[in-house]
This record gives sequence, structure tokens and C-alpha cells, in this order.
Amino acid sequence: MVARFLKETDLAAITAAWARDYRVLAPVREGSSIVYRVFSQDMHPFLGRPPTSSAKEALLPQTENLFTYKYRKDQDDLTRTEVFLSEALPPEPTLILGPRPCDARGRHLLDRVFLERGVIDPQYKAHRAATLFVSVACTSMQNTCFCHWTGGAMDDETGSDVLLHPLALESASGFVAKAVTPAGEKLLANLPEATSEMLAKLDERKAQAPAPDNAPALAGIAESFLAVFDDLDFWTDQSARCLSCGVCTYLCPTCSCFNITDENHGMSGRRLRTWDTCMSALYTLEGSGHNPRISRAHRLRNRVGHKFSYHPREFPEAAPSSGQSPSGLEFSCTGCGRCIRSCPVAVDIRQIVLDVLAKAKETAEAKE
Ligand code: SF4
Ligand code: SF4
Repeated sequence: MVARFLKETDLAAITAAWARDYRVLAPVREGSSIVYRVFSQDMHPFLGRPPTSSAKEALLPQTENLFTYKYRKDQDDLTRTEVFLSEALPPEPTLILGPRPCDARGRHLLDRVFLERGVIDPQYKAHRAATLFVSVACTSMQNTCFCHWTGGAMDDETGSDVLLHPLALESASGFVAKAVTPAGEKLLANLPEATSEMLAKLDERKAQAPAPDNAPALAGIAESFLAVFDDLDFWTDQSARCLSCGVCTYLCPTCSCFNITDENHGMSGRRLRTWDTCMSALYTLEGSGHNPRISRAHRLRNRVGHKFSYHPREFPEAAPSSGQSPSGLEFSCTGCGRCIRSCPVAVDIRQIVLDVLAKAKETAEAKE
């Protein structure tokens, strides 16, 4: 597909043009955070840093109405009640501007959960079909980023409809805009083509970017996790600082836990889906009072295990285009680093993964 050029000074205008056809979610600064807000004419999208929140809110909103309902008593037979349901589908066509490649790859991993496990989630499917991702390639890695451990890269196109590559030229700063899907190509149709000089500059800039540190060998991580699964002392140590606040899961582009509640107002109401977190003790509390994940150790073990052991074992045949890690496995983690940046007590999932590998090795050697 033809590469085009979007001048930085034209960003607000083209976003406004997209907003005529789509509900545009654009990143804006609010205090020290960068959050997605519905675009309005007086807004200045900020693409200079990865958003604090993840792009999953476009596909799996924090709170959404699944349907509304009404009851009507049959006045001739008061033992009979009629129920009328009104579904909230289809969602508005939506365009999210500014996700990073690690976020866009999260879209593919959410598909695994909501579309590829035998039961299709109609709400998610509708959001998925109605949403375009206009992502921004990274030019450097923050010290919490580790997308290269999990198969990503600063310019990975997986999950994006358009990928904007930042480019500073003497004549103008802006983005080389590359369409990834036909829908993305339509969005860019009115932009001028990027010149060969621009493309050469982009290649030069990429070639000069510092290479990330070597990724650790993760080929055996799924089995290493199982080897330390029952070592509760290990998991108690790993989770000693955790406050069970759940921020790590709420901001994660791949975490997909949700809760369903009904809000009833007399003879009508609505059913809501809201994000939930497996880091909360309430998440697994059963009606009997029994809780199979009673401690923070159990809960952290589940979070890390899901991403680095259960997911790759459930989807061992992941297609190469889906962002396999150098280990050949697909993880339910894109290495975005948000859980590390946002954790109030600096729990670092990278260190836990490395500790799992080391502990499993130590245990295996002790048995020899
Ligand atoms: S953000 Fe940190 S403290 Fe909060 S639940 Fe996650 S690991 Fe625990
Ligand atoms: S780095 Fe943390 S927040 Fe990002 S995808 Fe992995 S587990 Fe989720």
C-alpha cells in the first residue's frame, strides 16, 4: 500500500475529518497522564508519549450497557409478567488514535479470548468490527518497555489499520502514514504520498535507533511456571509488596476479566458489563464463602501464569503474524510495561518471569 505523509500541523484537521464519520478517541494530556477522550474541535491530540490507559477501552469499555429491559404486568392475569429487552448493539463506528504497537497487538490477543475460544462474545465482536486503530510507531523504548520479549517491535503492524511513523524533517515534522488494512487505506486517501526522500530518512532513523537489550530465552517459561506453581513460599515472596489494587490489570491491553450486574429501577433496568480484576480477593469469592485464590500469592501467581503459561499452552499453534516471541510462543502479554509503570509499589512482571525461570532451574538441579 502507498505510504503517505501527514504533517504534524495537519493532525487536528485530519482528526476532525475522521470525526465526521467516526467517534474518535484521541489521546490528550490530563495532569501527568495521557488518556483517551472523545475528540472535539477544541482538542489537541497528543502523540508524543504512549497513552497511560490502554486502547482496550475501545473494544471492551470500562462500563457498558449490554441491554435495557422493562417488565409489564398482564392486567388480566397478574401472575404473568412480560419482559421486553432492548439490545445496545450495534456500537458507533469508532476510530482510536494513538495506540502504540503493543496496544494494537493487544487487540489480537483479546480476539483470542472473545472470538476464538468456541463461544463468540457478540458485544466484543460488534465493537471489533466497528473500530479502527490508527497507531503510532515508537521511536525509542522506555525503561519499562519489553515488547521484544513477547514478539513485538517498535514498528510492529499487528492489529493496526494505520501505523504512523514519526519523522522530523527540516521542511516539516509529521508522520509517514502506512495503511495496514483496506479500511486504513481509505482513511489516508486524501493525504499526499510520502516522497522517496522521506522514506529514506525514515529508514535511516530506524537504522540508527539503539537496539534493545537481548530478550531472555523464554522458550521454557510455560513449563517453568508449572514447576514452581506449588511453591507458595516463592509466590508469597513475589507478592509481598502487592496491595491488590488491580491497577496492573485495568491498564493492561490484554486483561479481559469482567463482571455483570443488573441495575433495576422498579419495572425497568439495564444489564451492565464492567471491568473486573483477578487481583482482587472478591474476584474468586464463591457464594459458599470459599475462596480458591485466598491470598495475594495465589492471585499474582494466576495473573503471571495466565499470561506466560496458560495462554501459550492454550494457543500453541499461534500464527507467526500474530506476534510470536523470539521463543516461538505467543504470550498474553505484549510487553507494554504499563503494569510496571503504574504499580504503586513497583511490582515488575519482568523480574517475576526471570525469577520463575531461575527458581525452576534451581529446583530441577536440586532433584538431580
Ligand atoms: S498494580 Fe501492583 S500493587 Fe496493584 S494489584 Fe497490581 S501488582 Fe499489586
Ligand atoms: S506488560 Fe503488563 S500491562 Fe503490558 S501487556 Fe504485559 S502484563 Fe499487560
